[in-house]
Amino acid sequence: MNGPNRHCIFCDLIQGAAEVSVCYEDANAMAFMDIQPVNLGHTLIVPKKHYESLKDVPRDVAMHLFDVAVTLAPVIQRASGCDDMNIVVNSGHQAGQNVFHYHVHLIPRRAEDNFDIALPFEGSTMPDRTFLDAMAARIIAGLRDPARQAAPHTTRAVRAG
Ligand code: 5GP
Ligand code: ZN
Repeated sequence: MNGPNRHCIFCDLIQGAAEVSVCYEDANAMAFMDIQPVNLGHTLIVPKKHYESLKDVPRDVAMHLFDVAVTLAPVIQRASGCDDMNIVVNSGHQAGQNVFHYHVHLIPRRAEDNFDIALPFEGSTMPDRTFLDAMAARIIAGLRDPARQAAPHTTRAVRAG
């Protein structure tokens, strides 16, 4: 659930309490057709257990969902007749997440479908190299920090880089 009293539509779908078109299922994951697809074949891969967003998902579950994504991607491409695809995770409100049950989007793409994840970002002012280097150094230091907390619920040790 999303907070103590918030209702989760994806938990409903997983529990069979609402109509859904499932295309993959295993012990820990399920994939189904997005109800409002960018193009037909737009698929959502979800953990069966409720985790809100990326910061909540155990590492092994996140890895498993990506493994399912890699398995499904070429099959969806063939089924939808689209050669191109976006694999997207919106994690958190500011990142555009609307359903707070973690999920991976597989979005088959067609010419002129008018969907856009426009990168490089037009609104970006290219920062000076010093800022890029400084940010890279912060991340490297973060990876080496012995006090670094693994993601919540992480079930496997994470090796610092
Ligand atoms: P988000 O913005 O959270 O990354 O994406 C949520 C996705 O869930 C949207 O693409 C939306 O169309 C899809 N969605 C929302 N409600 C339902 C539902 O009841 N059933 C299905 N199959 N998809 C849903
Ligand atoms: Zn849920």
